[in-house]
Amino acid sequence: MNSYSGFSLVRHSLRGHRGWRRAWRNPQPKPHYDVVIIGAGGHGLATAYYLAGKHGVRKIAVLEKGYLGGGNSGRNTQVCRSNYFYPESAAFYEHSLKLFESLSADLNFNIMFSQRGCLELSHSLEELEMNRRWATAMTMNGIDSEVLGREEIHKLAPILDLDCRFPIVGGSIQRRAGISRHDAVVWAYARAASALGVDIIQDCEVLGFESGSGRIEGVKTNRGMIHAGQFALCVAGHSSVLAAMAGLRLPIESIALQAMVTEPLKPVLHTVVGSAAIHAYISQSDRGEIVIGGGAEPFNSYAQRGGIPALRDNASAVVELIPSFSRLRIMRQWAGICDISPDSSPIVGKSPVENLYLSTGWGTGGFKAIPAGGDTLAYTIACDRPHQLLQPFSLDRFATGRLIDEGAAAGVAH
Ligand SMILES: Cc1cc2nc3c(=O)[nH]c(=O)nc-3n(C[C@H](O)[C@H](O)[C@H](O)COP(=O)(O)OP(=O)(O)OC[C@H]3O[C@@H](n4cnc5c(N)ncnc54)[C@H](O)[C@@H]3O)c2cc1C
Repeated sequence: MNSYSGFSLVRHSLRGHRGWRRAWRNPQPKPHYDVVIIGAGGHGLATAYYLAGKHGVRKIAVLEKGYLGGGNSGRNTQVCRSNYFYPESAAFYEHSLKLFESLSADLNFNIMFSQRGCLELSHSLEELEMNRRWATAMTMNGIDSEVLGREEIHKLAPILDLDCRFPIVGGSIQRRAGISRHDAVVWAYARAASALGVDIIQDCEVLGFESGSGRIEGVKTNRGMIHAGQFALCVAGHSSVLAAMAGLRLPIESIALQAMVTEPLKPVLHTVVGSAAIHAYISQSDRGEIVIGGGAEPFNSYAQRGGIPALRDNASAVVELIPSFSRLRIMRQWAGICDISPDSSPIVGKSPVENLYLSTGWGTGGFKAIPAGGDTLAYTIACDRPHQLLQPFSLDRFATGRLIDEGAAAGVAH
């Protein structure tokens, strides 16, 4: 693996940048592996990396029907934060945020992690009370959080119209939160996993499973049969489809979520801003584009595109907060399919099929979970018992009733 540094950049520039090696190998599938991971998004690749790096599993394949990072991991709005309400979620997402803080150095790849803060606005005194409750819960869980008044918000983001149609009365901020370039996270894990011997096989679609005595023996793919001892499903957007092939019915709904970017501007917005009431969130990318996200489409679908009504709602919500943005032109719009569980929390860990592990239900907020999701699922597969942080997120909570209703508690799903 090439080392990426200022020194290697200078050294390669002297040879016209012709000596760089490919960031990851492009191997042919082998007939047998110890672990097969389906889906080369952030979660699949991170799981492979930690399985190989921390647990010494060497024969691992990650099978991807398209190109790596072509799913939601390369389509999201890049927000990373740990401002969750319940202790179970707070512990898990805080572990992820801490891994993000050192990820560029750990993987020797600049993931452009920028801790510019994540500001959640309140538009009424009642909402501010809820924000205060949320911030207090975070403080009790050992996570940084501050409640801000109007003046502090004005100082932080002067471009916001505090007296907009839904006047801003205050808000809360997690200053360690921020954004990280999404495809860089995927590429960083792919490069590091490949260097540890993981076979990342693109254009390899899983079409079915071969089972026997309550176990999965192998996967049928468009590139032949592949056998393994253990299997993991990391296929956001298609978890129910793949699980059904293995004989499982998951409590998952699949819904398209869209995002868009405007033409680039000089730096005008130095923090991530979200509003649960207006239902939109925005940040400015390092290229200057305003990245806009909002609510999911109102119906279930496997079509990886968003409709005009949601686009219009998201754009008009942002214009409520920053009227001058009405003059900006939208450059690109896209969507991904999110797998959403009934309590808006992920389902990760063992499944009723002995050697099949699940990573699903990340909904509209699984990008920020990639490092912790990979780390804890790798532990669960290697030790065949749930990682401590994953125990609350098991599938059987829908039978026991121990739900972690983050959507309702925190008021945001992203
Ligand atoms: C518009 C949008 C904005 C978002 N914003 C945020 C945000 O700001 N912050 C945040 O934390 N999260 C956000 N998310 C959610 C986040 O992107 C996802 O939760 C996360 O990327 C899921 O990662 P993954 O690795 O599980 O899935 P993916 O990255 O979707 O990877 C799954 C892979 O499985 C592959 N696959 C599917 N079926 C098969 C098959 N049969 N055989 C082989 N491969 C298969 C797919 O091609 C895909 O590459 C957003 C999502 C969207 C769509």
